[in-house]
Amino acid sequence: MKFKQLSVLALALLLPFAALAEDMLAPSLVPSRPKNLIIMIGDGMGPAYTSAYRYFKDNPDTEEVEQTVFDRLLVGMASTYPARVSGYVTDSAAAATALATGSKSYNGAISVDTQKQPLETIMEKAKKRGLSTGVAVTCQVNHATPAAFLSHDESRKNYDQIAASYINSNADVILGGGQKYFTPAMLDAFTTKGYQVLNDFSQLAAVNQTKVLGLFGEVQLPWAVDEPDAHRLSTMTNKALTLLSQNPQGFVLMVEGSQIDWAGHANDIVDAMGEMDEFAHAVEAVEQYVRSHPDTLMVVTADHNTGGMSIGRDGKYAWYPEVIRAVKASPETLAAKALADDNWPQLLADGLGFTLDDDLKTRFEHARMQGKEVLAHAIKHEIDLRSNTGWTTGGHTGVDVQVFATGPGAELFIGNQDNTDIANKLISLLPKPKKATATTVPVPQAAPAPTTVPAQAAPAPTIPAQADTAINGH
Ligand SMILES: [Zn+2]
Repeated sequence: MKFKQLSVLALALLLPFAALAEDMLAPSLVPSRPKNLIIMIGDGMGPAYTSAYRYFKDNPDTEEVEQTVFDRLLVGMASTYPARVSGYVTDSAAAATALATGSKSYNGAISVDTQKQPLETIMEKAKKRGLSTGVAVTCQVNHATPAAFLSHDESRKNYDQIAASYINSNADVILGGGQKYFTPAMLDAFTTKGYQVLNDFSQLAAVNQTKVLGLFGEVQLPWAVDEPDAHRLSTMTNKALTLLSQNPQGFVLMVEGSQIDWAGHANDIVDAMGEMDEFAHAVEAVEQYVRSHPDTLMVVTADHNTGGMSIGRDGKYAWYPEVIRAVKASPETLAAKALADDNWPQLLADGLGFTLDDDLKTRFEHARMQGKEVLAHAIKHEIDLRSNTGWTTGGHTGVDVQVFATGPGAELFIGNQDNTDIANKLISLLPKPKKATATTVPVPQAAPAPTTVPAQAAPAPTIPAQADTAINGH
């Protein structure tokens, strides 16, 4: 029912575009249609993350709790469930497929439908219409979320295959980690195709034109808390915006705070807040860009919730973010350093910001003897107890996620929606495809835009024949 209401609302909001298209006006003359689309995904960033981040950033010396960029931009919520065959709890691949194509698929799918047939992505549609495209992420660039925007594969685990396919994505900007997945021959192919290939973050500043493939880590980029001044994601985002802005037709950019999810899987509140801060910086950078470029729409969401984090635990009405703020490095890094240092109790006390009593020293000592993983786990557990942070799973949960937006078309994202709606609304805002015979097309051309929004209400499996024929066309 809500779905229908939303569809009607979206339809009503889109009608002015259709009417103008009938008058054969160029889409660029429609003032409320954005030229540039930016979708930002906080991987695993369920509502508890943005709330926790607010208190983590709160200035304890003031009476009020200061708002964050997420509070400022909040417009709605989105359900994240995958195709029926995978139940109610999505993985990043199915969720990214939904966000990139507007269709639901099975967990593990990289922009293919439940029959493993390719689904056209917003990036492919944008390319066909003359826009530039780009991705900027903190994981390896061939990880599930960016992969669903740049590739098609039956499994997210086919990392090598996905990396090899990127040469055909024609994306103008690809920034993140993942050096180990790109062979010298593959990098040569990128160079031959006109890409600047970078492997050191310091090279990025000098880049002043597309195309660019920047791989700044063997796999993922370092935890943000281990290099608090690096701000790699906002730096990559700002560079991507500068480069993509050179196309007068516009662009579609996907930015992902990838490792919020990794911290969630590890039940690691220190890195969860560090990665949230990194992502928030990137969101603020884009918000600033939208302010100075009123023809740009930004939409921020999460693909799902990870870890089942709770602000408070064990029946105690409290949360102590000052404990988290005092930690000077990721638990993983602290554990590695403690393993290599005989004076580890002092090292941990300095890194954690509290003294170790005899009982805790004994517990850490036992953990240390069992290796880095066990010690890191003990450190995280101690931080959870002291900050009163809870977790319910090392995996994902099926709770709805938030949607944030600003810029022309932002009102389309108000209220309750599905993750596929987000993609279909964004796709509906792309310029209309150019047709060879222009005399009689305006009416049929105008119709598809509004109907794409209700169409995704029908799950992908019920329309496989339709989807297949659409895909086989190119
Ligand atoms: Zn995950």
